[in-house]
Amino acid sequence: MPKLHANLPPCYDLARQLSAYLDGELPADLCHDLEAHLGGCPDCRVVLDTLGRTVQIVHALSDTPVSLPADVEARLLSRLTGA
Ligand SMILES: [Zn+2]
Repeated sequence: MPKLHANLPPCYDLARQLSAYLDGELPADLCHDLEAHLGGCPDCRVVLDTLGRTVQIVHALSDTPVSLPADVEARLLSRLTGA
């Protein structure tokens, strides 16, 4: 499969890293690569934006009862608060 971005991670690899990125679990060097790729790849920015909005929605709902697994909620809150 040809790479779309010679010096940047291909979209397929990036997509697998986006959730880790949003969870704050992606190593700093990979964050840098990902952000560089996002700067030149509108498709991936749409994906990240959609995922990010989902995280925000979950956060907005955190004051109301939601059936979110405790560990997932903890990770989301940790990410959103920067703790
Ligand atoms: Zn991409």
